[in-house]
Amino acid sequence: MNKSIVSIVKTPQNPIYEHIFSAVERAVDLAGGIREYVKPGQRVLINPSWVTAVTRKEQAVITLPEVSRAVADIVKNAGARPIIAESSAIGIDSEKVIAESGYQKLRNMGYEVVDLKNTETVMIPVPNGKIFKEIQSFRPVQEADAIIPVAKLKTHDQMELTMSIKKLKGLLSDKYKREFHQQGVFQACVDWYEAISPRLCVVDAVYCQEGLGPIFGKPVEMDLIVAGSDGVAVDAVCGFIVGFDPEEVPITREAAARGLGVAKKEEIEVVGESIESVYRRFMRVLEDERIKIEGFNLVYGDATCTGCRMGIMSSLFDMKEADQLMYLPGVAVVTGDPEIPEAVAQQDLVTVGRCVPREKRSQRHVKGCPPNNLDIVQAIIGDRDRAERRWE
Ligand code: SF4
Repeated sequence: MNKSIVSIVKTPQNPIYEHIFSAVERAVDLAGGIREYVKPGQRVLINPSWVTAVTRKEQAVITLPEVSRAVADIVKNAGARPIIAESSAIGIDSEKVIAESGYQKLRNMGYEVVDLKNTETVMIPVPNGKIFKEIQSFRPVQEADAIIPVAKLKTHDQMELTMSIKKLKGLLSDKYKREFHQQGVFQACVDWYEAISPRLCVVDAVYCQEGLGPIFGKPVEMDLIVAGSDGVAVDAVCGFIVGFDPEEVPITREAAARGLGVAKKEEIEVVGESIESVYRRFMRVLEDERIKIEGFNLVYGDATCTGCRMGIMSSLFDMKEADQLMYLPGVAVVTGDPEIPEAVAQQDLVTVGRCVPREKRSQRHVKGCPPNNLDIVQAIIGDRDRAERRWE
C-alpha cells in the first residue's frame, strides 16, 4: 500500500523570513518537491488565511505573510506564476487585512496579492458534491492551474480545528460562505475540497491558537511547517501533533470517509520531525475558561458563520475589558437558526444577526450581517450601562 507522505519541519524560535523559507522549502522537498505539483508557466493560486485584520503576528490569527511569501518564491523558482489570493470572513474588508497584517509589504515588493472580493464571481461545478452541485467562487480561482492552501493551525469553536480543507472556504463569495453554514458546513467544505482538488497543502504552524480559536484563542508558538499533497493526511497529522484524533474533527473525518485521502496513522508516512518529537496537546474550545460565566447561555445554530461567531466573541471580550461581565448572568445570546432554550424568558433573550428567522427574533434582536459589536453589547446590557469598543 502506498502511504501518503506528510512532512514536518521545525523552524528556530521567533523565525525571520530566511528561516521560514528554508523550512517551507525543506517541507515541500520532503513532500515530493515543487516540480511534482507545479509546472513552468502555470498560474498557481496560493491561498492563505486572512480571516480578519490583526497587527501582531504572535496573535496567530492569519497565515504569516512570510509563509505565503516562501511558498510564492518556491513556486516562482519552479518557473510558475504565484498569485497570493483570499477573501476574508463575511463582512470583513480583505484590503484592510492586506494593509494591516503585513501583506501590503509583499505587494510593495512586487508579489501579486489579490483581494478576491474585488474580482468577478463565477460558478464552479462540483460534480460529486453531496450538498452543492456548483459553488460561487472567483475568476482567479477558476483560472488557476493549481491551488495551494496555506492554512494556519488553530482550534475552532465549530470545527474543532481549522487546517487545509476548512481553509479553502476563503475562496468562496460571501454569499456562499453564508450558504455553507446554512446547508451543512462540514459536508460543504468537503464538497469544495474535492471540486478544486489542491495540488499541495502547506500549513503555517509557527504561531498557532488553542482554546477559543479561530480568533480569540490563546497563542502557542509551535515553530512548525507541515506539508503534503494529501490534504486529509496533512490535516490528520496536524491534528495528531496537537492531540486531536481525526475522528474528533468533522471535516477530516468526512473527507477520509469519502475516500479523498487518508487519516489513519498507519496509512501516513511522516517525514522530517516525528509527531512525538513536536507533540503538544492543545486546549479544546470548551476548556478555555476566559469567558465562561455561570448563568450565561451562548447558543450557536448550525447556520452561524464566522461573522457572527467573531462578532459575539469580540463583544464578550469588549465587555470583559470594560468590566461589564456582571451583566451576562441570566442572559441567553442566540445566533444562526438554533432551538431557542425553553427555560429562557423573552426579556432575557438576545437574538443576533440576519440568519435568525423572523419568528424567533426577540425584542432585543440585533440586526445586521454581520452585526455590529456595539449593538450586541448594548443589547446584552440594555439600559444598565453603555457599550464600549475595546477589542480591535
Ligand atoms: S447573520 Fe451572522 S451567521 Fe448569518 S451570515 Fe451574517 S454573519 Fe453569518
